[in-house]
Amino acid sequence: MTDIQADKEAGADAYRVLARKYRPTTFGQLIGQDALVRTLTNAITSGRLAQGYMLTGVRGVGKTTTARLIARALNCVGPDGKGGPTPDPCGVCAHCTAIAEDRHVDVLEMDAASRTGIDDIRELLEGVRYRPTSARYKIYIVDEVHMLSEKAFNALLKTLEEPPEHVKFIFATTEIRKVPVTVLSRCQRFDLRRIESAELEKLFAGISQREGADVEDGALKLIARAADGSARDGLSILDQAISQAAGKRVTEMAVRDMLGLADRALVFELLDAVMSGDVKKALGILAGQYAAGASPVVVVQDLLELVHWLTRMKVAPEGAADPALAETERTRGLVMASKLGMPVLSRAWQMLIKGLGEARAAPMPLQAVEMVLVRMAYVADMPTPADAIKQLESGGGVPVRAPAPSAPTNGGGVRAVASAGVAAERVPQPTAQLAPQAVSLPAPQTFAEIVELFEKKREARTAALLKRNVRLVRFEQGLIEFNSDQHTPKDLAGQVGKLLTEWTGQRWVVGVVNTAGQPTLHEQEIEHAKSDPLVKSILDAFPGATIAAVRKADDESR
Ligand SMILES: [Zn+2]
Repeated sequence: MTDIQADKEAGADAYRVLARKYRPTTFGQLIGQDALVRTLTNAITSGRLAQGYMLTGVRGVGKTTTARLIARALNCVGPDGKGGPTPDPCGVCAHCTAIAEDRHVDVLEMDAASRTGIDDIRELLEGVRYRPTSARYKIYIVDEVHMLSEKAFNALLKTLEEPPEHVKFIFATTEIRKVPVTVLSRCQRFDLRRIESAELEKLFAGISQREGADVEDGALKLIARAADGSARDGLSILDQAISQAAGKRVTEMAVRDMLGLADRALVFELLDAVMSGDVKKALGILAGQYAAGASPVVVVQDLLELVHWLTRMKVAPEGAADPALAETERTRGLVMASKLGMPVLSRAWQMLIKGLGEARAAPMPLQAVEMVLVRMAYVADMPTPADAIKQLESGGGVPVRAPAPSAPTNGGGVRAVASAGVAAERVPQPTAQLAPQAVSLPAPQTFAEIVELFEKKREARTAALLKRNVRLVRFEQGLIEFNSDQHTPKDLAGQVGKLLTEWTGQRWVVGVVNTAGQPTLHEQEIEHAKSDPLVKSILDAFPGATIAAVRKADDESR
């Protein structure tokens, strides 16, 4: 979509022809805004007109068009020059035509995006107290009103609080939250909703026909989807597509190329390759798409869309009947959805979402997307965390690496618990048990063994302090020096020395020193757990997951 965007900004006029030509001139032509039209009609027919109107909605939904329509409705005098405000402006009287051509002396427009200051608004409001020159109402249209400075808002508010009867304000904004409540409370608010793609498709089909252009249905669908709720954006794309086709049929392929979209069938194939762990094939497809002009970021977006759709197919096959999809795609989707498990799909979603962010931020998006695909294909072979645990607990064949002998935590088996945030909601807590080792502790050889001894002797509180609060500085047989934080009881060292001497029958000297020391055992365990392949796969599969705790496997068996 980026190329189109750039074109639109660079040559706005070149592509706005259709949008201007088919700008709605009556409320009836405003598509998708039924609620707004109904409320306005009621207000006008019952004569209860608000002093100000606030139109809000995403860019391109028709805010300024609606503002001008309201201006017409308020000032129309009808073909015979005798009519009053009407929900159905005639379109032929002097006021209607002048407003349509942006040249009505009593309808003043200001774009607050470029004129944000107090002087701008003062200048605009200067004539507020004078009666309109020719029309019934003096109408002030302020676009992007949220951009006004605080002072400008205050000036505006003064007028809004005591407006002369002949003045009406129509504000438009894309960011309603930035408009002060004091202003909002004096306006009747209308939320212009994003136009649905089916409605847009119908609109574009009608306009193509009136333009005498032959546009394939698939092309119209793509344009409607790319328009993302905006009639204006969609018409710009349609305009461009028609002029590119130069009198010939506008094909789906041509629009796809123009929009930098990947071929839909290839998106299926790509996901299929990735999910079956075929890295080579996946990268080949990506390279082909890239060469054909598809943006790598768009490829990830397409994959996300497909994964989302497959997930919905799984939950409710009948509800996922997207009319924008061809029958062949639907059949293929059903097969894929039945093949892939729900945890696998949600893992794919997580990885793609993370990948999308990376691809957008990367200086070379293609490489970033390649990495995403490689990662996904690699994980595709792996069991989901839930399956891995099941296999492990039933003694199944998931390879598990024993803790390295040099590791400070090699006393017993450790169990890592990863908390995976949202991702883990429906997955049982991913826990992984590593190979347990037999432990005998006549004389502790490491600090970890000391802690273990305290656990065995049911000195849980002391063991926890040693593990979490103590940073080991020196360890020898009979000598321990450590550094501890202010939360550690002062007599900890004395207690530990006394008990150790008692239990081992050997003298132990334990002292507190001021040197920095090693990370705590607890910190080391977490670091260690992270390097375990199984835990690593869990962390990779659930971006954003962190290890919450590392527990001894035999904690619960006691
Ligand atoms: Zn009129």
